[in-house]
Amino acid sequence: MANRLEFSRKTKAAIIARAAGKCEACSAVLKPGEGEVDHILPCALGGEPTVANGRLICRVCHVEKTATDIRSIRKADRSRDKASGAIAPKQKIRSPGFPISEKVARRQTKQALPYRPLYQPAIKETNP
Ligand SMILES: [Zn+2]
Repeated sequence: MANRLEFSRKTKAAIIARAAGKCEACSAVLKPGEGEVDHILPCALGGEPTVANGRLICRVCHVEKTATDIRSIRKADRSRDKASGAIAPKQKIRSPGFPISEKVARRQTKQALPYRPLYQPAIKETNP
């Protein structure tokens, strides 16, 4: 994988100025110094560290975004590996499998036990 390209200080400053103290995803108000500059298109998927590909988002949005990014990066990795033949495509089992042995067949046709109540009704006390 290519080296991660971080935003330059200048780019970050421009993004923070554009956000004007709000999360650019959920528009939550951010305290000064709060918020994180995020790659809209993750750099692992070819996103550039530019003002256009960056946005200032809050902690909550960043955690969510990172989780989604990781999933799409993994998916891209799998697609690439499949296309290059690095991993074999999944195949369905073609044979009918092993024949069921007599013992297993007997076990599968076992009848259920007859119904049995979980408790006995209390014996009524008879008055003398
Ligand atoms: Zn947010």
